[in-house]
Formats: sequence, C-alpha cells, structure tokens
Amino acid sequence: MAIQGQRFCPCCGQTKSLSSFIVDYRSKDKYLPFCKTCTDNIVFTASGEDLNIVGIWSAAMVNNVPMIRYIWEESKKLIAETNPKSPFAVYYRVLRERFGTYEGVWQSDCWVGDFIKILMTDANGSIIPPPDELPVLIKNWGKFLKENGEYDYEAYDYLSKRYDEYTEKVQGLTSAMSMQYRNLCKAEWLKIKADESNDITEVAKAQKLLDSLYSQLKLDDFAVEKSDTDRFIDRLIWKIEETEPAEIEDENKYNDIKGHEKTYNSIMRSLRNIVANSRDYPEVPSEEM
Ligand SMILES: [Zn+2]
Repeated sequence: MAIQGQRFCPCCGQTKSLSSFIVDYRSKDKYLPFCKTCTDNIVFTASGEDLNIVGIWSAAMVNNVPMIRYIWEESKKLIAETNPKSPFAVYYRVLRERFGTYEGVWQSDCWVGDFIKILMTDANGSIIPPPDELPVLIKNWGKFLKENGEYDYEAYDYLSKRYDEYTEKVQGLTSAMSMQYRNLCKAEWLKIKADESNDITEVAKAQKLLDSLYSQLKLDDFAVEKSDTDRFIDRLIWKIEETEPAEIEDENKYNDIKGHEKTYNSIMRSLRNIVANSRDYPEVPSEEM
C-alpha cells in the first residue's frame, strides 16, 4: 500500500521516499516506475564496462520511456562529456527538452538491434547471420567464400562495419560513390588477407589498389581534420571529376536546339542594347570594311 510521500519500486521491492524516484516530467506528482538506484543498476548491468545504448535502452523499456534515436545521439554526447552518475537521467532530460510529452515505450523509433549486432555462432565458432541477410550481403559485396566453400561471414561482417564507418558522415552519397566505398572496403579486406598470407607480391598488389582508391576518394589527406563543409565540398568535387558531366549525359535531350547559340546570343545582344541602352555590336568583318 502506498504511504503518503513514499513509493513502491517493483524492481527492488522496497518502499522508498519520493526523492528516490525520477520525476515523470509530464505530470508534477508522477514518477517513473523504477527507483533511481534500480534504473542506474539496469543501465550499468546491461551496458557492461563501457556505457552504451543497451543500458539506456533497457532502462527506458522498464520505465515505459520511448527510445528515440536522435535523443540518444544527443544524450550520448552529453554523457561522454560529463560522465554523469546517472546516464539515464541525462537521456530523460534531453527527451524532455527536445521531444516533450510522450505516451509510452511504443513510440520508440529504434530498438537495441539497431545498435548492436546479435551474432549467433555455429559449432565451429563461425558467425551465422540471420537467414534473410545473406542475399543482401551477396548483392552488396559479391560472394566471399572460405577455403572450404562456405560463405565467409567474417568477411561480410568486416565489410559491412567498415562501410558504415566510412559512409556515416558522407553527405549526398550517390550510388557511384557508394560503389567506390564498397570497393575500398573490399580492397582493405584483400589487404588483410594478403598480410596474413605473407606473400609479398600479393601484399604489394593489395596496397597499390588500396592507395589508388584512397586517393580517388580523397581519403589520403591525413594532414588536417576536415570540417563537414570541407568534406561535402570534397565529395562534390569528386562527383564532378569522377562522374559523367550532365551536359554529356543530356546531349541527346538537347539535340534539337544544339547549334542555335549564335542566333540566340545575337537576339540577346540586341535585347540588351534596347533594355540597358548599351552599344554592343558585333565586329564588322574585314571584307565589309
Ligand atoms: Zn528499486
């Protein structure tokens, strides 16, 4: 039975003073179900040594608080900067400031599987991806097989992770660029395998391929940490340099007006003379002088 000024925590089974609970910001006299101690315990037990999304996610679920991706991204930064005693309280505060009133956990837009890969392994310790993932992996990366002819899930795991790391901050990723990044990840994987094989020719070949991709993607400039704007401009330049210019692609489209530039320019010149009162006339050909 609830005693005035106290609350029962269903997790630890104790009746505690109201100050032991996080205030539910949607209503002055409401509190989150689990006490602060239990909520913090859940965060740290579920996260392990490095605090991560799994901890916050678990605490949010038991407290009927939605897990919102951008709120997590923002609070993650704050948590890393301030190293608070109660990371969940930080998440909850950012939720209040940026998301506002919520209804419940069903409003979550992400689940824990978005952030961690739950990997299953077979008897030999090889990773088994979910069955629906294989066709996607083959489509994205081609067939990577081990010596025994089985699919090389270690390779796929590496490729997918590296690709995510490279493209996470790339704005305006076109399919051509996406392909280049995939090539880069594959080249990196080849380099790892070449290094393992200790075959100097293979290592040199892999390194050469890698270097050329690094330079194509402008990833070989380690001198300065670039701003997002610089990266964006770099990508635009890359796009212009490495993809077909629009005027060539569209040449056929404008075939019927090709070659009329002179007439058009002459009309525009006359028009300018009328409107702007300029005196812009073509050169008189020497034979007419
Ligand atoms: Zn408790």
